[in-house]
Amino acid sequence: MTRRISILGATGSIGSSTLDLIERNPDRFEVAAVTANSNVDELAAIARRTGATLAVIADETKYSALKEAVAGTRCAVAAGENALIEAAQAEAELVIAAIVGCAGLRPTMAAIEAGRTVGLANKEALVTAGSLMTETARRKSVDLLPVDSEHNAIFQCLAGESTDQIERMILTASGGPFRTWTAERIDAATPDQAVAHPNWSMGAKISVDSATLMNKGLELIEAHHLFGVSADRLDVVVHPQSAIHSLVEFVDGSMLAQIGPPDMRVPIAYVLGWPERIATPVPRVRLADLGRMDFEEPDLQRFPALRIAREALAAGGAAAVVLNAANEVAVELFLANRIKFNDIPAIVEQALNRHSGPSPASIEDVMEIDRGSRADARLVAGSFCR
Ligand code: NAD
Ligand code: MG
Repeated sequence: MTRRISILGATGSIGSSTLDLIERNPDRFEVAAVTANSNVDELAAIARRTGATLAVIADETKYSALKEAVAGTRCAVAAGENALIEAAQAEAELVIAAIVGCAGLRPTMAAIEAGRTVGLANKEALVTAGSLMTETARRKSVDLLPVDSEHNAIFQCLAGESTDQIERMILTASGGPFRTWTAERIDAATPDQAVAHPNWSMGAKISVDSATLMNKGLELIEAHHLFGVSADRLDVVVHPQSAIHSLVEFVDGSMLAQIGPPDMRVPIAYVLGWPERIATPVPRVRLADLGRMDFEEPDLQRFPALRIAREALAAGGAAAVVLNAANEVAVELFLANRIKFNDIPAIVEQALNRHSGPSPASIEDVMEIDRGSRADARLVAGSFCR
């Protein structure tokens, strides 16, 4: 039996890696629904190539262009935000949630509500609606399989273990492109420099998040929700070689680590094949070539975003939604060359100080806090913009 897979965010970095694995294993996988934000040509090419049954473009103005581009195939076409929900709920065994940002929240929740197994890359969805999402998954008996490499590593380390014997989880961080830079040099960093990650090739937003270490902060919150571990039992260690993707420490003092090449096709393959493994064409880690593995404490002075994210996790309530929204706004402004690199954490911190509120009780709540925090963050950013 082939497994039908839908890909939300099929044109992105995670989407492309997922498609690469699916297309290498045509006897195991079929493509169901695919979605993109606005790139009609690429979405249509994917639909044609894979025989997808539904293609959805978020940008409504692109509907006719998409329809034309897949004419003559059996692929149905739809456009707009609500059509993303339709794609998330289309008949499939697995939905890869790989839209970037809070924009992926409603489609990801829709997939869970429809009882689909979800391969979760869209960390912003879990950061902003963690409890709602894990509760719904429990209620619907849906497996949430982590695609993010750190969480996938931990998920692999937990196979066959009981959760009450976990002492801590340690997320590894590469340290990003500015790990060895002075504070002054970091302050003058350009978008191009921030997006040039030393070990991983990824979308622009997550690349900037990796450079500020906000990515690791978001991942702490992600781990908290995925694995039900309290903040005081979650650590971060900088490991520049990105060979170990994360570790779990147990009550007996044992630590398990997952080692692999820095290629997202490895964690994605684990999710696609789970509970089995599938072969990947990824160049293997040669330990003798690697030579050594280094570890160091993250520097919270030069990289305050990690501290700010930890504080948001400790604060609870709506803080994680505000953190994420302000960060999305600030990263966009930085990529547009409107603010300096160090303004990103400064804007996020100020936005957090302006807002406090109870935990969102519904996805509508989350979306409303998200909208308000974006407006707030833009206001705060005004005094930073050049
Ligand atoms: P990307 O920018 O390369 O791709 C994003 C995808 O989402 C594209 O298909 C785009 O069309 C779609 N999209 C963007 N905005 C949208 C909107 N408003 N509505 C609908 N669709 C929209 O991003 P990526 O690097 O593939 O990352 C995707 C997610 O996976 C992010 O949440 C990221 O944090 C997470 N992630 C990525 C990596 C990686 O290596 N790239 C690793 C771990 C986690
Ligand atoms: Mg990660």
